[in-house]
Amino acid sequence: MIYLNGEFMPMEEARIPVLDRGFIFGDGIYEVVPVYSRHPFRLREHLLRMQHSLDGIGLPNPHTEAQWSDLVHRLIALNEPEDQSLYLHVTRGVAKRDHAFPRGVQPTVFMMSNPLVTPSRETLEAGVAAISAADNRWLRCDIKAISLLPNVLLRQMAVDAGAVETILLREGFLTEGAASNIFVVKDDILLAPPKGNLMLPGITYDVVLELAMGHGIAHEVRKIAEDELFSASEILLTSSTKEITPITSLDGKAVGNGKPGLFFWKLHGAYQEFKNSVMRRA
Ligand code: PMP
Repeated sequence: MIYLNGEFMPMEEARIPVLDRGFIFGDGIYEVVPVYSRHPFRLREHLLRMQHSLDGIGLPNPHTEAQWSDLVHRLIALNEPEDQSLYLHVTRGVAKRDHAFPRGVQPTVFMMSNPLVTPSRETLEAGVAAISAADNRWLRCDIKAISLLPNVLLRQMAVDAGAVETILLREGFLTEGAASNIFVVKDDILLAPPKGNLMLPGITYDVVLELAMGHGIAHEVRKIAEDELFSASEILLTSSTKEITPITSLDGKAVGNGKPGLFFWKLHGAYQEFKNSVMRRA
C-alpha cells in the first residue's frame, strides 16, 4: 500500500499527472526512513531534515510534524514487513510547464514502503568495494532533492566497475558517497567530513558520531584530504538502509589489510545495541 495526496491505495492504482513538476523538472525533495519492528527510527530527525530540504527549495511544508507522523504510522500499519524502508516524497505539484514557481498549486505528496534489507552478515564480514570519482554535483548537496541525475550516473560508475559505491572528491577533499556518507579511519582516529552545502547531513552520520562520543572512540570532524582517504586504515559507508558498512577496497586496492577493522566492528556493535534499545523503549 502506498499513500498519494490524502489517500492510501495499492501501488498499481496510484497515478500522477504527466505535468507534475517532479516528473518535468525533478522539482521536489524526499526522505528515506528506516523502520525496525514497526517503529520508525529517528523519525523526528528525518522530518526536520525534510523541513530543511523544503526550505531549501522554497516549498511550504504541506503537513505539520504531527500529521507526517500520523501518515507514517498508518503507512507502516498497512504494510506487511516488520522492518520497512519508507520513502517520503513532496513535489511542487502539477502546473503548466514553466520553470518559475506556479501560484496556488497543491504540492504532490507520495509515500511508499519497501522491505528494509540491511547488509547481510557475509557482506559485513567481507566488506564492499568502492571506486572514487570527482564530485560533479551542484553546490546544494545538503538538500535531499529528487533531481538525482548526477548521483545516478556516479552510482552507475560503481556498478559498472563491480563496486557498490562511488566515493566523491571535490577540490582534493572527500565529500560523501553517491548515496551515503563516508567516514575514514586514519592514525587510529575516526574522521568525518564537516556538514555544509557539499554533503547531505546524514541521519546515520549523526548517530555514528553520537556513538563514537558515547563509547569513547577517538574521532574528529574535519576536512579529509584525498591522500588521507587513499591511505586510510578503514573506510566506512553510512546510510539509513546500509547502516554502517565497511569498504574494504577502493579503486581495486585493499583498504588497510583488506578486512573490516576494529573501528567498524565497535561501531557496528554499538549501532545494533543502540537500535535495539531505542526499539525496546518505543
Ligand atoms: N548522502 C547521500 C547523497 C545520500 O543519498 C544518503 C542516503 N539517503 C546519505 C548521504 C545518508 O543519509 P542517511 O544516513 O540519512 O540515510
